[in-house]
Amino acid sequence: MPGPGSDYFMIARVVQPANRGLQVSGKIQAVRGMNDILPEHSHLWQFLEDCTREALESAGYREIRLPLVERTALFSRAIGEVTDIVEKEMYTFEDRNGDSLTLRPEGTAGCVRAGIERGLFHNSQPRLWYSGPMFRHERPQKGRYRQFHQIGVEAYGMDGPDVDAEQILLLRRLWERLGIRAELRLNSLGTPEARRDYRAALVRYFEAHAGQLDEDSQRRLHTNPMRILDSKNPALFDLIDAAPRLPDYLDDESREHFSRLCRLLDDAGVEYVLDPRLVRGLDYYTRTVFEWVTDALGAQDAVCSGGRYDGLVTQLGGRPTPAVGFALGMERVIALIEQQAPERPPRMLPHVYVVHSGEQAERLAFEVSELLREQVEGLRLMLNCGGGSFKAQFRRADNSGAAVALVIGEEEAGTRTVQLKPLREHSEQQAVKLEALPAAVAALIN
Ligand code: ATP
Ligand code: MG
Repeated sequence: MPGPGSDYFMIARVVQPANRGLQVSGKIQAVRGMNDILPEHSHLWQFLEDCTREALESAGYREIRLPLVERTALFSRAIGEVTDIVEKEMYTFEDRNGDSLTLRPEGTAGCVRAGIERGLFHNSQPRLWYSGPMFRHERPQKGRYRQFHQIGVEAYGMDGPDVDAEQILLLRRLWERLGIRAELRLNSLGTPEARRDYRAALVRYFEAHAGQLDEDSQRRLHTNPMRILDSKNPALFDLIDAAPRLPDYLDDESREHFSRLCRLLDDAGVEYVLDPRLVRGLDYYTRTVFEWVTDALGAQDAVCSGGRYDGLVTQLGGRPTPAVGFALGMERVIALIEQQAPERPPRMLPHVYVVHSGEQAERLAFEVSELLREQVEGLRLMLNCGGGSFKAQFRRADNSGAAVALVIGEEEAGTRTVQLKPLREHSEQQAVKLEALPAAVAALIN
């Protein structure tokens, strides 16, 4: 295994205390490929998160929260030594006590690690989901980042294809809810034995055409020949098209498994494309593999990928436990929502902005705000903080997007009334007594 310090590993250097002083002058920029998600975008993320949580929890999937950092050996064992991720994309570093740790490049390995370690797979068939950042040292471009986010879904202890179909249907429903379109590509990789035969046939074929292979593929020929099929180099497309096809090597059981899956999808009216070259970049897949792709995002066409990984739990030291799961790329799905969703999910604007001037008015403004927050369900209320003239406060009220301002001056403070002033329509402001205010505001927001 390539060790830390070798060319294969990206070493994330810890800034030592002695160096910190060097960074005080000048602007410090974000790390390349790692994005801020700004407030003007975060409501789209929340929309995606809410819809997914709702879809998953209603089908019995429960959230698991996993560490962002795991031992390096977990990923090299689970994902495979000769995959792109392990060979060249991991953020691996040495902990202060010399352990080799890695920022997670994906979630399945950690989920399986947790399941074995915490006994989640004993006599039960957990359906789990998680979400959060993943880290891969890739070349940043639109739709491809070094810190990106996934929602991951995993189901254990069921050998399918019913649960495979369940997950695909869940995704179809989710796309519908989000207002986006994607195309489903489907394949079966069969058992490890069937794959061994296929792999041998592939090696024979590509060896016979070795002259046409690019450098990457030459290297993979004897380490991971199936990955050649996944090459994004157009010069290889014809050669790859004519290569032996995986479906011709499937064992009978996998063939039956796959046709049952297709039948369930047909019954449900799911459209899909059978793609015999779909192999996926991670080594742990067996039988069902799928990918949802789009032509709306340029070269980064996969929005969600998954499949069955029946061997992984034993490979990581657990008892035999079949499993199936997928991961959805949140940045890409959000880009699709922005492009395709007929109605963009609205940003939550405040209903009410409280404007006040003078010390007594400030005290009443706090009282009013707490009263309304307590009594008016669902109310979004912003209280002016930081002082300012009435003019400045009204400008803030306007910018906040609120529908009405509640105005409190010294006079209102004396009579315990509030001026209710519509901001978006031309109607008169009205004075409302404190006792009548909750009902008046409640009427406004419904
Ligand atoms: P790709 O073929 O685009 O490299 P992958 O096969 O590496 O994808 P997976 O490891 O299966 O992808 O991850 C699942 C999903 O996560 C992908 O379908 C994609 O939407 C998203 N994804 C993967 N890598 C990145 C990245 N670097 N930046 C943003 N999203 C990503
Ligand atoms: Mg990739």
